[in-house]
Amino acid sequence: MCQSCIDQSRRKFLTLSAAGVAAGALALSALPAPARAKGVLPTSLDPDAALAKLKEGNANFMKSPELCANALDKRRSELVEGQAPWATILSCADARVPPELVFGGVNLGELFICRNAGNTADTDVLGTIEYGAAVLGSPLVVVLGHSNCGAMKAACDVARTGAILPGFIEPMIASIVPAAQAVMGKDGDFYANTTRENARMTAEKIGRQSEIVRNFVDEKKVKVVYAIYDLESGKVDFID
Ligand SMILES: [Zn+2]
Repeated sequence: MCQSCIDQSRRKFLTLSAAGVAAGALALSALPAPARAKGVLPTSLDPDAALAKLKEGNANFMKSPELCANALDKRRSELVEGQAPWATILSCADARVPPELVFGGVNLGELFICRNAGNTADTDVLGTIEYGAAVLGSPLVVVLGHSNCGAMKAACDVARTGAILPGFIEPMIASIVPAAQAVMGKDGDFYANTTRENARMTAEKIGRQSEIVRNFVDEKKVKVVYAIYDLESGKVDFID
């Protein structure tokens, strides 16, 4: 990002650690100030610009994936003391869905990423997303589901047959089961419908359970969206 691109008001906003929101009972001022190296400045992108950039990156990934390599060594040294990601991605842990590649070879320091099987929002994920928005200034949260997701299939099996899963997989999948139950018997593919509903419910949960995120959304400083990545075509379908 070039120096002239920096949005002064946004920078001031971040420096204050969202002091406006902290006027409530949230005590955001207790959060650490973002540590930034020289040249690592808060993003100037607003939520819609960040969303457009992700869409453009995914189009590049589909068209010319071989061009999506970056000068990682140079960027790595620039980011030792700080980061300023312009989007937060909650994606599945699936090895076929690496957000940095799916969005067009995004470089180090650009995306703030949470991953787990089924892209669900537990306490750790909610806290991570809040940190990304309040401390790092990320203006966009994307819940990214994908086709042929094993976690969705497991949740569908539990919803349909009452299957019992081993270990911590059981409670992990349990958080997806309500999405499967919500779409069971509806037209279309059960797995695909569950994938979409789970992403929708997760995005909704982030806004409902996180007062920090909700306040940023109300101020139009953060947007929360959900999308589905198609393993076959490479396309990310953002659902409005
Ligand atoms: Zn998955």
